[in-house]
Amino acid sequence: MKGRNSLAVLPLALGLADSALRPTMHTEPTPTVSAATVRAPGARTGGATGPVGIHYINVGQAAAAIVDLQGAAIMIDAGGETTENGEYSDHLIAYLKQFFQDRPQLHNTLDAIIISHPHVDHTKNLGLVVQTFNVNNLIDGGDDTGSGIPQLKKARQFAQDHGIPHMAVSDTGIGKGQSIKSTLGLTGPADVVLLSGSRDCDNQNNNSLAVRIATPEGTILFTGDSEEDGDQTCASGMLAFLQEHFGSNLQADVYHVAHHGSFNGTTDEFMKLVTPKVSVISAGNPATQTPGAFHAFQFGHPREVAVNAIVQNTSGIRDKKSVTILPKVKTLKTIVMTKAVYCTCWDGDVIVSYSANNNTPSVRTSGFQIAH
Ligand SMILES: [Zn+2]
Repeated sequence: MKGRNSLAVLPLALGLADSALRPTMHTEPTPTVSAATVRAPGARTGGATGPVGIHYINVGQAAAAIVDLQGAAIMIDAGGETTENGEYSDHLIAYLKQFFQDRPQLHNTLDAIIISHPHVDHTKNLGLVVQTFNVNNLIDGGDDTGSGIPQLKKARQFAQDHGIPHMAVSDTGIGKGQSIKSTLGLTGPADVVLLSGSRDCDNQNNNSLAVRIATPEGTILFTGDSEEDGDQTCASGMLAFLQEHFGSNLQADVYHVAHHGSFNGTTDEFMKLVTPKVSVISAGNPATQTPGAFHAFQFGHPREVAVNAIVQNTSGIRDKKSVTILPKVKTLKTIVMTKAVYCTCWDGDVIVSYSANNNTPSVRTSGFQIAH
């Protein structure tokens, strides 16, 4: 066992998820970026009137999302751009505060935070989130190494200190299609399924926890930073692994594009299985180009070859928008997007929602970028 917790599943002390044992709300300084003031009119976080809302929060070259099931909320990744000076942290916390303000029935509580893999662009703001809001379950792959491990270890310790169940999901333990609905204590119609756990791959992107949330209105898929290629320890990359185990069951109406729209996070074959109505990429503002730093510009996200495959296999449409993609690293190209492909790098926060008894998702964007 390399660099992992030895237990496949750490204590599922479900009885401890009692409100009496929840951490109390921690009082944070007022964020310098207020969601209510910087968001464009009509694009507040709230107002997702239907039973399902998926919020892809703009955290720069990183990932953070909330799935709002009305009676429950699940956060998937809590990252922030590694070079940020607190602007994305402030934005993420302000967004969550606004989100919970609009949903008093949730009592500032995330039923689970799922960390796809221990890279800092997925964990950077985890500590802030667990200290500021109530969290009922912490779920990750159990890895003990990675650029985001300091933040993840602190959160694990916080969970232990506050009686929050922590689940370390290895692929040999649970994973490969296991529902965690009852583990999370969810009683609504939505099912939450882990398609994969950590596989102990050298390339931790290939350890990403893939999550499928099935609701009567539509199916939502997250694949973390899954890659096409295998590595020294894992012959198949995570995309091939998912294809092999789930095939056409990968179909999802709302797809969070793997690995920030990287060239190695999307294949035509994979997209033909997912066939989403809406695709959303989490990536950084292409205008942020500090020499020597690692922004979306230096990584080349979202890459043209990936965007092409996403566009070809996404069925929905959007209002025409000129967007920036990268044919290669540090090279920008403008195209007109007409398919329902969104990116936090083009659109700011992206909110996909369903109204009751309607299988057609609608999309709102905040339309702003955080200034650097
Ligand atoms: Zn990432």
